Amino acid sequence: AKRSGRGVVRLFDDSMDESIRFRRRVEEGLTQAIAKQELALLYQPIVAQGTLDIVGFEGLLRWNSPDHGAIGPATFVPIAEESNLIHDLGDWVLDSALAMLADWPSQYVSVNFSPRQFRRQNFVGHLVEKVQRAGIAPDRLQIEITETAIFDDAERAADTLYRLRQMGFRIALDDFGTGYSSLYNIRKFALDCLKIDRSFIDGMGRERESAAIVHSIIHLARALRLEVVAEGVETEQQVQALRLAGCSHLQGYFLSRPVDGAAATDMARSGAWP
Ligand code: C2E
Ligand code: CA
Ligand code: CA
Ligand code: CA
Repeated sequence: AKRSGRGVVRLFDDSMDESIRFRRRVEEGLTQAIAKQELALLYQPIVAQGTLDIVGFEGLLRWNSPDHGAIGPATFVPIAEESNLIHDLGDWVLDSALAMLADWPSQYVSVNFSPRQFRRQNFVGHLVEKVQRAGIAPDRLQIEITETAIFDDAERAADTLYRLRQMGFRIALDDFGTGYSSLYNIRKFALDCLKIDRSFIDGMGRERESAAIVHSIIHLARALRLEVVAEGVETEQQVQALRLAGCSHLQGYFLSRPVDGAAATDMARSGAWP
């Protein structure tokens, strides 16, 4: 379809132009977003199945852009990831997250790191410096990485994870089940926690396949003595099914939406729901 007529070609070019222009505007906006205080980190509780005690909070980034309105990380994190912006953004996220810990009695904060951040030179040293400066014990920071970040260069990733773990950080493998990790490889990585991707929790009540995947991830986690967090829990039925399946931790709108720092601190202190 290379020669499908000028009109088609031009249409294609226009939409390319538009997406490039959008990307450029997002990049420019993001460059100033930190200084202009347009970023916010929200916190979503992670609770123990059974007691529903809040054991930690996942930090989730938001950008209130004057140009684009409130846009979600799924749109702008990939754009930041393709430039060095991701590092400034990541540092802002990490500093914000660590600053919360002084106000929380026991909970950890779980921070998302993109593959590019994880592969950064001296990633471990950078994190150690951050927690030391914040005066925080490393086991109150959980590092969330996806399978993509570690399976591209498994040898190097295994070494990084091992050193992070030795320094005392917690490590969670995010969106588990959606990547191309082999079960054989997983044992080589120093991990504390598997997070079951929301798509499987969502499908659990409808499709045998999703339910089977959820059950096998939970079995795997237990066999490897890892915590397992079900993401995107939205209904009481899902809570029941996950309890029967032996899932150790839950996260999702059924328990709480992501909330701002002040609300998270209230929840962390009182254990009460908003
Ligand atoms: P993720 O790490 O898988 O985060 C879970 C996403 O599911 C979040 O979307 C969260 O708001 C949403 N969620 C939580 N519970 C429910 C539920 O019960 N139902 C539904 N439908 N959704 C639920 P969000 O905040 O839009 O983040 C999207 C993705 O952006 C994240 O996926 C993560 O990969 C990335 N991200 C978020 N914050 C950061 C950050 O600070 N740094 C980096 N590098 N990536 C981030
Ligand atoms: Ca995550
Ligand atoms: Ca996830
Ligand atoms: Ca996800």
